[in-house]
Amino acid sequence: MKRLLVLATTALCVASNGIRADQQTPATLDIYFLDMVGGGSTLIVTPLGESVLIDTGSLEPKHRDADRIYRACRYAGMEHIDYLITTHFHSDHFGAILELTKRIPVKCFMDKGALPPKHEQENKRFKQLYPLYLQATGGNIKTIRAGDDIPLRNDPSGEIPQIKLHCVASEKQVEGFSGDIDAPVEGFTIKEPDTSDNGRSIALLLTYGRFKFFAGGDITWNIEHHLAHPVNRIRRVDLYQVTHHGLDQSNNPLLLKALNPTVCVAMNGPRKGIQPNTFAALKALPDIKAIYQIHYNTQYGDGGNTSADLIANAKGQEGGFIKVSVAPEKKIFTVSIGMKQRKKWFPIQ
Ligand SMILES: [Zn+2]
Repeated sequence: MKRLLVLATTALCVASNGIRADQQTPATLDIYFLDMVGGGSTLIVTPLGESVLIDTGSLEPKHRDADRIYRACRYAGMEHIDYLITTHFHSDHFGAILELTKRIPVKCFMDKGALPPKHEQENKRFKQLYPLYLQATGGNIKTIRAGDDIPLRNDPSGEIPQIKLHCVASEKQVEGFSGDIDAPVEGFTIKEPDTSDNGRSIALLLTYGRFKFFAGGDITWNIEHHLAHPVNRIRRVDLYQVTHHGLDQSNNPLLLKALNPTVCVAMNGPRKGIQPNTFAALKALPDIKAIYQIHYNTQYGDGGNTSADLIANAKGQEGGFIKVSVAPEKKIFTVSIGMKQRKKWFPIQ
């Protein structure tokens, strides 16, 4: 049944003909972490020129986040977005969607197929934003469930390594786990059930050849536990989008150790993440080589931030992005800040 649902999604979504204007083959996989000032927006451009946007930042200040996403799309050579995935219905993740669709066409909208919990539906911000979401999408939205693949195109000749974008958790369901996410587990810390929409976020694993990237939206501690224990469902990744802007109610060290990333990128804000427990847990990872941040966090001082050359927006600055490019044939990926910084390279594990 799940297979049929995924095939139906493939047929309903319009296939892309988008070839990137800025490059020749062989192409890289590019990932842009955009500054939504503590919100979320990640743009993925595949080697075959398809694009996936995960989340759209905030509505306010008006046009800021939509303009930033649009500029990043144009910089990447995109004239449309193939798949726009909304991980969950918090204002920092879906607020700018209508403004964005006024700037660039979107071929296929995807979300978790359920509204936030009842008490969040009563929230003034949700009541303001959800009608804009319906207007942007026209209500034509495909549901992503744990275990589904986003139907990205692959090179039929097999010369370009296979790319796969897979959902490992959605709507508080973890792929391969059918029990109660919030039930106590002997020997481990399970926290109070998360009654917000954070825990219901879509969590995605992107693989390109041997390269692996995990982007978990704002999933929280108990969901993270079941991604790592008793089965390590994702295993080691090269790149980790620090979950939930680096807040401590997420970033369960059990999952961080299981992922054991080489590079982390935190979509934090000037006063939001990376919180101290998460920062300590990231720094303690055995194979971590660099922790990038979108913003310098003014609450924690230099000791609570990564080094200055790994921060996209220093104190008082904003709008700078972080770009990751993956070249599997060279067994490396590179990370740079904005358009000017020299790339730092890292080995693919
Ligand atoms: Zn968020």
